[in-house]
Amino acid sequence: MSFDSGKEKTQTIMGVSPEQAVVEMEEAGAWMVGANCGLGPELYVRVCGRMRAVTSRPVWVKPSAGIPQMVGTEIAYPQRPDAFASFALQLREAGANVIGGCCGTGPDHIKRLVAVLASQSSVRKH
Ligand SMILES: [Zn+2]
Repeated sequence: MSFDSGKEKTQTIMGVSPEQAVVEMEEAGAWMVGANCGLGPELYVRVCGRMRAVTSRPVWVKPSAGIPQMVGTEIAYPQRPDAFASFALQLREAGANVIGGCCGTGPDHIKRLVAVLASQSSVRKH
């Protein structure tokens, strides 16, 4: 599910909230629920926390590298690996069990993500 719409940018384009999405995904038999793509990791901290609050299943978060911008005729994702990875701890704190990257991310984003997560011991509340 991708959340990039609504006043707080925490709904799908069709207006589905994170909580509604969890219910629908679980009813469809999902073993893991989550969010991908969207408008960057900072906006998925809240989405992740809202999903975590209503599910005991693993939560998977795979944000894009920031808010996409048009550069000429190309879509560009502006967030550099360090900026992208700086939200890793907040995502883990919000309850993410799996963190990855969608549009605009590459090996360097994931390497920084791993480095940030490995640098801080996990204090899981879930
Ligand atoms: Zn994407």
